[in-house]
Amino acid sequence: MKFDIITIFPEIFDFYFKHSILKKAQEKGVIKIKVHNLRDFTEDKHKKVDDKPFGGGRGMILKLEPIFKAVSSLRNPKQIPNPKSRVILFTPRGKKFNQKMASQFAKLEQLILICGRYEGIDERVAKYLCDEQISIGDYVLMGGELPALVFIETVARLIKGVIGKSELLEERITKEKGFREYPQYTRPEVFEPKKGVQWKVPKVLLSGNHKKIEEWRKKHSKIIE
Ligand code: SAM
Repeated sequence: MKFDIITIFPEIFDFYFKHSILKKAQEKGVIKIKVHNLRDFTEDKHKKVDDKPFGGGRGMILKLEPIFKAVSSLRNPKQIPNPKSRVILFTPRGKKFNQKMASQFAKLEQLILICGRYEGIDERVAKYLCDEQISIGDYVLMGGELPALVFIETVARLIKGVIGKSELLEERITKEKGFREYPQYTRPEVFEPKKGVQWKVPKVLLSGNHKKIEEWRKKHSKIIE
């Protein structure tokens, strides 16, 4: 799987991809992540990526041409349309991202992610260039970089070899049609935030009784579909 990110703030991604599990996954060759600076696809000396909105209004809009160039350079012209590749635009008007969508994206080979900024992006990007518009929730952020990170992390952890127990995760997906998430505890068994107060680990988890532990986990689970 290759993730290609198009952004005007490539530095935002530097630290994250160099210091997380995603770094190891890249070293193992399980995934590739490439960050592309939208300004490298401009032709004027000021590397202008934005302009005023037609019809008036506040703020600036990301221009169509550099995004067109960036996307064209990342797609293999011999493979359009390519069912294994998608161009994704992050926008609060998009389809709400969830675990099921992540599982579908994890089966593909290339995801080109377009991060918006300012007041948004020329609508022709959505209309002619991208395959899907995705929102990470009903709120408005300042840019598409955080949505891209959320998206990549959610999709990448479903790819075999990215996290240690991916087989187990796959088992969870097929068996229960979703991720079974339940509360977890670790040492100490009892924590005293102040004198006379004790925050305890549920007894059943210390019992060694696997059947009872499983029942407890089931009872406290949420299935993330
Ligand atoms: N008016 C723009 C629109 O309707 O798409 C929103 C502009 S927003 C201030 C700037 C950028 O942040 C967007 O172009 C988008 O890339 C990103 N963004 C903001 N909120 C988002 C969300 N909930 N999900 C995905 N992307 C978001």
